[in-house]
Amino acid sequence: MKTVKDAFNVMKTGLADMYSPAEADAITTLLLTDLTKLSNAQLKAYGDTELNVVQSERLLTQLAQLKTGMPVQYVLGHTEFYGHTFEVNPSVLIPRPETEELVDWIIKTINHSSGLKILDIGTGSGCIPVSLKLIDINNEIFTIDISSKALQTAKHNAAMNNAEITFIETNILNPEPSVITHQKYHVIVSNPPYVTGTDKLQMHRNVTDFEPHTALFVPDADPLLFYNAIADFAIDHLETEGYLFFEINESYGQETVDMLARKDFTNIELRQDMAGKDRMIRAVWV
Ligand code: GLN
Repeated sequence: MKTVKDAFNVMKTGLADMYSPAEADAITTLLLTDLTKLSNAQLKAYGDTELNVVQSERLLTQLAQLKTGMPVQYVLGHTEFYGHTFEVNPSVLIPRPETEELVDWIIKTINHSSGLKILDIGTGSGCIPVSLKLIDINNEIFTIDISSKALQTAKHNAAMNNAEITFIETNILNPEPSVITHQKYHVIVSNPPYVTGTDKLQMHRNVTDFEPHTALFVPDADPLLFYNAIADFAIDHLETEGYLFFEINESYGQETVDMLARKDFTNIELRQDMAGKDRMIRAVWV
């Protein structure tokens, strides 16, 4: 594998069992831009550019990792979310584009209000709180996760992006009163686990075998487990006219809306993601 062009060919052949040629091409482009610091266009235009031994060995190691089914973001060790770079590893979920849509909705809703207190529940990589903090550093951002490893990654991501955030380690299903701040928030947001055992059967191995199960799965018998608990928490911790935002399982849009209505939330709005699937909810507590 002497040149960029060779690299594309080796990767395409090596990944043929798992990825289409277009996907293999996109993955190789990601890895090579990271490795060589050339742009996508430069990689395409200068296929004869030589790779040094370290670069080609690194790419072969990455190919071996990809062949185990590891997602390219874990292979690379980082990904982009809302224009910022986040370290990712198997202790955190890889940030998804639909979550960027949720962040966008929150930012449009806040509409330049400053000095808000915002809480993110189940933060993972920290992609939601960091993106919200960077929109306006005068907002105070708090975040909860059950996983100390995820919080370590989130703290690293906050530091790397110069975002000041308060981190709280607790289980939202049974929060320790001593660690929960008793203040109220203007916005509470969560992208909690929402994949059921039935959904899992349809999912790609590189999600189910590599991404953290605590971040993904809920029992089939209680798909709204986290939504119920977070809504109850929000009733006690939202300011009057505060907003609750959820990313949701596309199959439970109406059920989640009904649950929030039963708990007396108002102005409940269900929105679709780019793929047209019921994916997020905004509700107001009055
Ligand atoms: N959207 C993620 C997926 O499809 C799931 C995220 C979650 O469970 N909160 O894998």
